[in-house]
Amino acid sequence: MSYVDEVIERAIRENPSEPEFHQAVKEVLDSLRPVIEANEEKFRKEALLERIVNPERQIKFRVPWVDDKGQVQVNTGYRVQFNSAIGPYKGGIRLHPSVNLGVIKFLGFEQIFKNSLTGLPIGGGKGGSDFDPKGKSDREVMAFCQSFMTELSKYIGADTDVPAGDIGTGAREIGYMFGQYKRLRGVFEGVLTGKGLSYGGSLVRTEATGYGLLYITEEMLKCHGQSLEGKTVVVSGAGNVAIYAIQKAQQLGAKVVTCSDSTGWVYDPDGIDVAALKEIKEVKRQRLTEYKNYRPNSEYHEGKGVWSVKCDVALPCATQNELNLDDAKTLVANGVYAVCEGANMPTTADATEYLLEKGVKFLPGKAANAGGVATSALEMSQNSERLHWTADEVDAKLQGIMVNIYHNIDNASKKYGFEDNFVVGANIAGFEKVVEAMTAQGIV
Ligand code: NDP
Repeated sequence: MSYVDEVIERAIRENPSEPEFHQAVKEVLDSLRPVIEANEEKFRKEALLERIVNPERQIKFRVPWVDDKGQVQVNTGYRVQFNSAIGPYKGGIRLHPSVNLGVIKFLGFEQIFKNSLTGLPIGGGKGGSDFDPKGKSDREVMAFCQSFMTELSKYIGADTDVPAGDIGTGAREIGYMFGQYKRLRGVFEGVLTGKGLSYGGSLVRTEATGYGLLYITEEMLKCHGQSLEGKTVVVSGAGNVAIYAIQKAQQLGAKVVTCSDSTGWVYDPDGIDVAALKEIKEVKRQRLTEYKNYRPNSEYHEGKGVWSVKCDVALPCATQNELNLDDAKTLVANGVYAVCEGANMPTTADATEYLLEKGVKFLPGKAANAGGVATSALEMSQNSERLHWTADEVDAKLQGIMVNIYHNIDNASKKYGFEDNFVVGANIAGFEKVVEAMTAQGIV
């Protein structure tokens, strides 16, 4: 059996009931075969892959808090510190009922390579809890965040592990967590990113993942003689990534006709009204059913359906495994040119394979949504310098980073004979730097 297969088999055996983690390990290691096979003896002797698929540390803890009725609630908190070869652990905190150890591990594993691709000194980590902020009062969210941080604060710090937002963790949650960390540790330091502008946050961090997705998409299109101007785009999700992806796509001249949330989706033939979407989701925290009140011409449908709309570019920006093989077939039948992932692993493995087979240009999340973490690293730099950069400065750096990522993954795919396979390109480009750092640091 090849070394890659051995390690995949062992990762599955030793981490049962973690299907998302298995999926991520398989996807990454499979596409790294050309590099691993060329160095098989060395990597095997150093157990390099076993070390890469095993987190340096995984922390699981109880999070008790009191709800508005005086009832004590108990959630589970996680922080997986996956790999610190190239810098302090960095990765978001997900608050969603679907969170479990396997989901956090899949996200932390992917984060290693994504962070490496940014070219910035950040290692891979991820955290979260099965707490659902939806429908909770501000006081309940604060009670949860304070309890969560009381435990987490023992393991993080500006130079060790710097969490950020993710699904369910926005500016409100980061604020409550930061406040509790400061109270417990007595230091004002850049321990979290995605902070408010009044206490160390970076301009453009809120927009960064969505904007970055469009910067890399535009660069990829440009290198294939195309552009977003005049293209029809479908987007899934209506959260942080989706909203700013829609905004930037429109600024670049595309028409975005859909968005979705966990209960339904919207088709707006005139183009999504971003101001209305922000008011519904960011200000009022309502369902997408409200959108029709702002745009009578639009349609609202229950369930899933964004991928059935004819488009040139599809941007999945909601959650993992939201675009399956049937969806990929529909997109291809409707003539899609590119699929670029704003979310983490939104496309299932068989759907990804199908899209690649059909020649659809496919930018994987670890490259395409790296703008968020890259700007988080820029926030860390500003915190260390105790300086605040202008929006234009941050935006220009973000753009430069995304363009650079595209060329790095494109070059890596070409170097190994997989031209236009950006899945292989992203994994190889991210992996090579981590391996070099791990090798230099000895067996740790
Ligand atoms: P948000 O919580 O702001 O938004 C998530 C959106 O996806 C919401 O519209 C939500 O619907 C929808 N959604 C969540 N879970 C499901 C589900 N199980 N089925 C259908 N829809 C769902 O999160 P973000 O926008 O921050 O994150 C979206 C994705 O992007 C995630 O995969 C995240 O890991 C990834 N990502 C985020 C980054 C960031 O900077 N925020 C950086 C890099 C990646 P509803 O409104 O009903 O909750």
